[in-house]
Amino acid sequence: MSHIIALDQGTTSSRAVLFNKNAEILNIVQKEFRQIFPKSGWVEHDPLEIWNSQRDVLHELMQNNTLAAGDIAALGITNQRETTVIWEKESGKPISNAIVWQDRRTAFICEKLKEDGLGDYIRENTGLIIDAYFSGTKIKWLLDNIPGTRKKAQNGELLFGTIDTWLIWNLTEGKVHATDYSNASRTMLYNIHTLCWDKKLLSALEIPESILPEVKNSSDDYGSYVFTDNGGAKQSIPVCGVAGDQQAALFGQGCLEKGSVKNTYGTGCFMLMNTGEEQIQSASGLLTTIAWGLKGKITYALEGSVFIAGAAIQWLRDGLKIIDSAPISEQLAIAANDDSDVYVVPAFAGLGAPYWDMYARGAIFGLTRDTGQNEIVRATLCSLAYQTKDLIDAMQKDCAIELKNLRVDGGACANNFLMQFQADILGKKVERPPVIESTALGAALFAGIGVGFWDETMLSGDRPIEKTFLPTITEQKRNKLYAKWQKAVTRSMKWADDS
Ligand code: ADP
Repeated sequence: MSHIIALDQGTTSSRAVLFNKNAEILNIVQKEFRQIFPKSGWVEHDPLEIWNSQRDVLHELMQNNTLAAGDIAALGITNQRETTVIWEKESGKPISNAIVWQDRRTAFICEKLKEDGLGDYIRENTGLIIDAYFSGTKIKWLLDNIPGTRKKAQNGELLFGTIDTWLIWNLTEGKVHATDYSNASRTMLYNIHTLCWDKKLLSALEIPESILPEVKNSSDDYGSYVFTDNGGAKQSIPVCGVAGDQQAALFGQGCLEKGSVKNTYGTGCFMLMNTGEEQIQSASGLLTTIAWGLKGKITYALEGSVFIAGAAIQWLRDGLKIIDSAPISEQLAIAANDDSDVYVVPAFAGLGAPYWDMYARGAIFGLTRDTGQNEIVRATLCSLAYQTKDLIDAMQKDCAIELKNLRVDGGACANNFLMQFQADILGKKVERPPVIESTALGAALFAGIGVGFWDETMLSGDRPIEKTFLPTITEQKRNKLYAKWQKAVTRSMKWADDS
């Protein structure tokens, strides 16, 4: 038992990551899967494609490294959060595609909740702001719109899960229907004070409690993955760690002390601050969420969520087709005319924190005759940094503390242009660790602690830094650039609200 494997089920790809006893990454296998956009503002994934890709990368990782089940102490799972799957208990068949966290189709259900005066109740009891982002309204939409499902749900024939739950259920061949505190706290159905599914919200959204999973610690017994190896023998690996991707990254970055902060640049951008046992209620549009549960003790976090970050770079590649790959964006941005006044607001899925506008849409401002692809690529990268500044400013206001530096991770933080611009626009030091796979590391740590492979001393000590980016622009220039960003955001707001 010399290894831990983290299953990192992200929005754009499924990954399996192999860790040794020193929590170092030995190998990663990754597979992208389809993003399905059936209508404007809708985003879906095929749950079976997610499961198959995740299982395939796990087996490929084991084969590549000639590992048998007996070499793996435990599996940890970390996942894209809020994405909603409902499936038949008996057959395991999903009733439809998964509704992805970025999907806006349930905005009208959110409006109804607001009209019914539930805003304050939801804020106080779930820590969240009413938004189509969270799972609750997605479940209601599926039960209302897929024929026959409401009756089946009431008869106890259907199960709901976020992606962690869907994977656990498949790994254990339907034996375990469970999630962890961090994922439950993103459903807008879970009461983060009483640690129970909230009956008032279940009733408001007409969701039968029987479809919901059991909620457990992030290091816990989630059953075992049983499979048949090439020689026909039955093998089994325990599943002992589960956390939503952003909370896992907070853990993996070693942000274990109250007040420590990380920012992840993945599909979206997510800044989390560990607030210990305290649930800080934000006055600036941030969310209160559960970071993790360890041995029954709950740690809370304050979170700023930006829906579109790296996804905007994917759009440059797959939508506009002006770059061949995400990393190439760095060279094009460096080659751009840096006093061009172009701003991209990537509000493709509305705006999250601190604006919370479900009807904002993407926009490009400041185009002139000499604007070329380089300037658009540069402005798109800069939008990730501006959105991060929006979050930091909100967090500093809520906590009345001045953050000195920012610890970063996630795919897009490999981009040096972006990280330098981030330091410039924040006027703060940006620190990048050598391992930007903090999410997978967090899941591996939860699993390793859960199975007794590691003890908690593994969590102590400073994490190494690969590169530090220092601010290089004047405060006057910073203020000027940021003021223009805020002007651009204001102009993109309420665009899709035709009422
Ligand atoms: P997720 O876990 O949300 O799927 P990742 O952390 O794997 O995301 O990051 C992938 C995202 O980062 C993609 O949206 C991709 O466009 C972006 N990305 C990856 N590398 C770079 C890069 N060098 N520069 C800019 N963006 C990048």
